[in-house]
Amino acid sequence: MEITQFTVGVFRVNTYLLRDEATGKCAIVDTGESDELATRLQSLDPPPDIQMILLTHGHLDHAGGLPYLQAAFDVPTYLPRLEKPLFDTLPQQGDWFNNPAMNCECGRIDHWLDDGDHIQLGDTALRFISTPSHTPGQGCYYDEQDVFVGDTIFAGSVGRTDLPLGNPDLMENSLRKLMTLPHALRVHSGHGRITTLGDELENNSYLQFLREG
Ligand SMILES: [Zn+2]
Repeated sequence: MEITQFTVGVFRVNTYLLRDEATGKCAIVDTGESDELATRLQSLDPPPDIQMILLTHGHLDHAGGLPYLQAAFDVPTYLPRLEKPLFDTLPQQGDWFNNPAMNCECGRIDHWLDDGDHIQLGDTALRFISTPSHTPGQGCYYDEQDVFVGDTIFAGSVGRTDLPLGNPDLMENSLRKLMTLPHALRVHSGHGRITTLGDELENNSYLQFLREG
């Protein structure tokens, strides 16, 4: 799978274009909060054969740009089922950051994902794993080499749990679950640099409880 990273918007969120090399079929992971990603994808030459939009969670920097993307690429969109209550707050999330201008419309969700679900992108088999805490239903998409984690984990850190509908009590369980995946997986986070699960297990202070175990 070919991966192109686009860092967009005022939150500098990492979004991704995934391309199955055998068939050329593509997926978008997350959206930014504006039309920036849609514009950048539309300017690619040759145009990507976009088949689907995959959302890790319902925060405005990850899902707020969905209406712009769907206007440009009218493709099925996937969101974790447990994210619905948070996704439905997109028209108010700008207020949380004292920036009502960033209140977003909700785009259209076509598929609600549950833990363990499979998604086929050309010849690439993706799986979904539910890792709530930063948000009520955030999850990750992965194949044999790469995992797209949203704000579940960052190089050296984890996603904040103090925003509405976050739940710090779920953090350890979700991190433990994430670490059941192969440690060689390259981790593509919603913010910051690329890492691997193994590097985080060794160095991330939020995973200290697993090193002790
Ligand atoms: Zn987030």
